[in-house]
This record gives sequence, C-alpha cells and structure tokens, in this order.
Amino acid sequence: PLSLNAKYHFSNFICGPSNEFAHAAARAVAAKPGRSYNPLFLFGDVGLGKTHLLSAIGHTIQSSNPDAKIVYQSSESFANEVVDAVLNGKLEEFRRKYREETDVLLMDDIQLLAGKERTQHELFHIFNVMYDSNRQIVLTSDKLPHDLPNVEDRLRSRFQWGLITDIQPPEIETRVAIVKSKAAREGLELDESLAFHLARHVASNVRELEGALVRILAHASLTKRKLTIQYIDEILNNIVPRTTPDLSIEAIQEAVARYFRLKVNDLRGSQRRQSIVRPRHVAMYLCRKHVSKASFPAIGDQFGKKDHATVMNAVKKIDRALESDRSLQSQIQDLEQQLDIPQTTKS
Ligand code: ADP
Ligand code: MG
Repeated sequence: PLSLNAKYHFSNFICGPSNEFAHAAARAVAAKPGRSYNPLFLFGDVGLGKTHLLSAIGHTIQSSNPDAKIVYQSSESFANEVVDAVLNGKLEEFRRKYREETDVLLMDDIQLLAGKERTQHELFHIFNVMYDSNRQIVLTSDKLPHDLPNVEDRLRSRFQWGLITDIQPPEIETRVAIVKSKAAREGLELDESLAFHLARHVASNVRELEGALVRILAHASLTKRKLTIQYIDEILNNIVPRTTPDLSIEAIQEAVARYFRLKVNDLRGSQRRQSIVRPRHVAMYLCRKHVSKASFPAIGDQFGKKDHATVMNAVKKIDRALESDRSLQSQIQDLEQQLDIPQTTKS
C-alpha cells in the first residue's frame, strides 16, 4: 500500500536556487509520469528534501490518477521484501507485484542497496520491465550513481538513463522562507529578523532547522514568553550542544576499554582486528556525541593521531549500524549509563 508521508506536498516545498532544478524535474515527472524523465534520480545530502519531493510526486500522480498503482518503498524495506519472498517461496507473487501491477515506483535511499546482490538483481529486472513499458521510476540517493559502492554496474548505468538532479543545502534566503512557512503553518507569524536569526544559526540541513523551530515554538507556547532573539538563543544553546559537561575523551576511552575488556592503547592504536575495531569506533562515536567541543580532528588526535576522515567514517558506521543492530544499541546504552549520561529516548 501507498505509505507516503501525508505532509509532504509540492505546495509546502519551498524553492530556491539550491533545489529548484530538482523541484522542476519532480513537477514535470508528476505531471507526465513515464513520459518526461525516466528514471528521475534525486540526489542530495540527508535532510535536504529528497523524501519530501518523492512523496510530493506520489501524491500528485495519485490525485490526478486515482487508479494508478503507486508503490513508495524505502530501499531497506524493499530489500526486506525480497528476503521475505525468497524465504517464503513467494518470489512469483513479489515479481508480479512489481513487474506487472505497479504503475509508478518511488524508491527512497537507494544507496542502502549497497552490497545487497539479490535485491539488486530483482530491482534490475523490475527496472527493465517498467522502463520498457514507460512506467515511471523515481529514485533518491545520497550518492551519485557512479559513486554508489557495491552496486552492480548494469544497475548503476540504468540509474543514469533518465535525468539526474541534485539538491544542495539551501541558501540563507531559502532557509528564512522555510522557517517562516513552517511557523505560519503552526499559526505563528515569525517576524523577519527572528526567522533570519534562526536560519543563520542552523545552516546544516532543513531537518535540523525544522527541529530547532519546533523546540522554539514549544518553548514559546509553554512559557508564554515573547519570542526575542535572546530567547531564541537561550533555547538554541540548550539544544545545539546536547552534550554532557565535563565528560572527556579519556574518560570515554577508559570506559569503553573496560567494557570490552581491552586496553586503552588498543583503542588508540591501529590494529584492524574486528574485536578491536568495533570498540574503537564505538568510543569515537561516544566522544563525538557526548564530549562538548570534540571536533573530528580533536578526537582523531587522541586516538593515536588518526585523521578526521577516519573518525567521521567511524561515527557514520556506528550511526548506521545502530539503526538495526540491537546488541550494539544495548552496548551503547550500557556505556552511556556507566558514563552517567542521561538517556535520551530515540524515536
Ligand atoms: P531527505 O529525504 O533528503 O533526507 P527530507 O525530505 O526528509 O530529506 O526533508 C527533511 C525535512 O525537511 C522534511 O520535514 C521536509 O519537509 C523538510 N524540507 C526539506 N526541504 C524543504 C523545502 N525546500 N521546503 C520545505 N520543507 C523542506
Ligand atoms: Mg529521506
């Protein structure tokens, strides 16, 4: 069944130079599915609106063509579907669903197909059948097709058959417009200087900008204080460095070493045994998350002079693994408890 995010429409997508090409392409595809650009490949960093545009395409096609069978699927759940079909002997059914019964395929985050050979194989055939019968395919990814690691060449090349558009981080004016429009939706008229202040503060991506705005609106409505620049700063400063004061990199290294029965020097060294690499990555992850002012280079320094990219990759790896790895989740929780870090429940 179609499980598009109900909130994501073209009408509430704010355009600016950073995303207008992607937006225009998405509009064109929504107006003439299968006949403008196929596949449409939306590329951009996390939090910049890929899923939003993908859903908007789905909603638009659905409302102009209520009978269209639109499948929205994250690559991860698609991969799970493949595994299920294989395990339960339901491949025929699975293939029929996609190859015969789907008019529009919206596939989110295809970078997650990396290394999933069976899933790629199925997608390849689905792609061919849909493409040949002019049925629309839209893909999103945080990497360009030729940078997708561990994806078959034949699939990668098909991803480039249509149109590739990228979404860049929004400029300040666009961020201001986004803040104002989101605030207005919540019934708050945010004046220009406040919107500008907020947009200047949170430059990373739209999701974080939204998160900051939500907190500000919640604070303001609960305390009934008038929003001022100073008040916004108070709120932002509470949320931006969500770190525990006084926690040091050394303290984390010691706790992690103890927990995994290693030596601190193992964590700082460069042995590549998995039983050491994982704890090392966990330690880096915790440093980044909980030590205020621990930049990637600063962390690298204290892990035996490793460079910032190494740390960044380690943190990314753990972040990603945490999405599905239960035992890792509980290890991190244990460690956070041991370090007296207040538990945040992640939804
Ligand atoms: P991605 O899929 O690229 O990680 P999302 O589509 O989930 O990003 O966007 C993150 C959040 O930011 C969503 O709530 C989305 O509605 C919002 N957003 C992103 N870009 C825009 C935009 N140009 N206008 C309005 N909201 C946006
Ligand atoms: Mg997304």
